[in-house]
Amino acid sequence: MTLAHSTATAGGNPGRPARAVIGALFIDMQNVRAKYECLRCRTVEGPVYGTDAVTAFVADIRTTHPTRCTGLQEPRP
Ligand SMILES: [Zn+2]
Repeated sequence: MTLAHSTATAGGNPGRPARAVIGALFIDMQNVRAKYECLRCRTVEGPVYGTDAVTAFVADIRTTHPTRCTGLQEPRP
């Protein structure tokens, strides 16, 4: 594992522990858009715009991103 010297400054949700994927979901209710930043692979998904797109995005991103996350190669002990 390589240790990047960057400090993650994600505005997290303290009361919601991440499961498989560590990422930050940003939802902008004013402009009706959402994006997801994966803290493992540094990929930003989105943003998507519009109520339907945002709703689907928020509902699915935690399950769909891991399927293409390049930082999710968990080493087998
Ligand atoms: Zn990822």
